[in-house]
Parts: sequence; C-alpha cells; structure tokens
Amino acid sequence: MIFEKFSNVDRSVEDNINSSVSQMLGVPNISSEGIIHAELQKDGEKSDACVLKNFIFLGAPGAGKGTQASHVSKVLGIPSISSGDIIRAELKKGGEKAEKFKLYSEKGLLVPDEMIVEIICDRIKEEDCCNGFILDGFPRTISQAQALEKMVHIDRVINIVVDAETIYKRMSGRCVCEKCGAVFNSVAEMRPKSEGVCDLCGGALVRRTDDEEQTVRERLKVYHDQTFPLEEFYTKKGVLVSIDGSRDFSLTSLDVLKAVGVQ
Ligand SMILES: [Zn+2]
Repeated sequence: MIFEKFSNVDRSVEDNINSSVSQMLGVPNISSEGIIHAELQKDGEKSDACVLKNFIFLGAPGAGKGTQASHVSKVLGIPSISSGDIIRAELKKGGEKAEKFKLYSEKGLLVPDEMIVEIICDRIKEEDCCNGFILDGFPRTISQAQALEKMVHIDRVINIVVDAETIYKRMSGRCVCEKCGAVFNSVAEMRPKSEGVCDLCGGALVRRTDDEEQTVRERLKVYHDQTFPLEEFYTKKGVLVSIDGSRDFSLTSLDVLKAVGVQ
C-alpha cells in the first residue's frame, strides 16, 4: 500500500493519517525519511534529511518550560537547544560570528532574526540532533518561525501555559545561592532545607533582581505580545499542544511526555 504525497497536504497531517492507517491495519508505516534516517544512522553520517522528532517548547518565563524541556531531552535522548546557550557558546569560541554578536550587544541592539535562525540551523545540523531536538524558547517571533519553517520540519509545538498569578507566586519565592548559583524556591518543590541557606554549599540565598515583581510583569507582557501570534501560527499548522503548567512538575510532565509521543 503506497500513500502518495500531495504537495498541498501539510506534512504533519499526512504523517498522522499514515500512522493511523498503519495502526488500524496493523501494517508498518514505512516512510522514505525513516529509511534514509536508518541508513544514515548505520553510516554514522549527518544530513539534513535525518530529522524525525523535532519539537519546540513555548512558555512564559517562570512557566517551567526549561525544566520540562530538559526532562524530555533526557527521556528521549535528544538535545534541548536554546538560542541563549548557542550565542554564549559562539562568544566563547570566538571568530567571525562572535565578533558580530559583540557588535550588536555593544550597541544595545537585538541580534537580527536571520542571524539567530542561521546559528540555530547550524546547530540542528550537528550529529547529536540526528534523532531529533528540542528548541527551548525559540522561535520568539513570527519572522523567526517562518525562517525556521524553510529550514526544518517541526513535528510538535508544546505550549506550557501558566496563569500570571501562579508565575508571580513562583517567581517571588525564587532565590539563588550567592556562592554556587544553585536555584531554590521557597513556594515550590525546590525548597531549601533551611531558610536562606544553600543545601549544596551553605552559601547565602538571595533573590535575583531579575525576579522582582515589576520586572516579572514586564517580561510577561513582552512574552505574551510576542508569543500570541506564534500560538496562532502553529495552531493553524495543527502542531500546537497546550498543556496546563500550573500544576506540580510531575503532573505537568506526564502530559508533556504524552504530547511528545512517550506513552
Ligand atoms: Zn550554594
């Protein structure tokens, strides 16, 4: 049985149909990408073709997106990539790109979308992304999403939704060790054993100015203004899954794992 590909059919829709038919009939669903992927795995080569499980994680600052993304990364054995980490790594490496980044930051300008998308796409082509990857907090804008779409297929977008009040509550309890940088939270699961003291090194715990309420409100507003159009963009593509992230980590995590295909 061969399922023809129609150019006007969205890839994710087609994949869903194929895999449902495969399940109903109890016959394997063999895709050319799957075969190419398996062949490349054998040879240990890397290629743009070998991307099958590609995820984007969206979520406001404080929604727990990073924690969920790194959990899924461990479970699926695929890397979790954030643009901030990549830029920091480039700056460390030095070279042409690092010089450009420095110029923008010295002038207090935002790094242009094309540059960000370019480094993300370079990163995705690396060998450890062969079985898939998680983009943590990228794209942030529609133009980044459109540029990304031209380079790579995204299978699912996980949107961790937490109401503003819960985020304020979480952020207000957040404190960081002055000595070792460990993060604790007096109102959530990561409570220090004794108030104001780091469990790991005994250093003093301080609140980050970043987490002051006004800053949190600003960041949330910026986030919502930027992300609302992204939610629409990925909803239209049929790949967005919204998950209630106001619950405990473990409950949220069950839904997240289901959404990325872990049963
Ligand atoms: Zn410490």
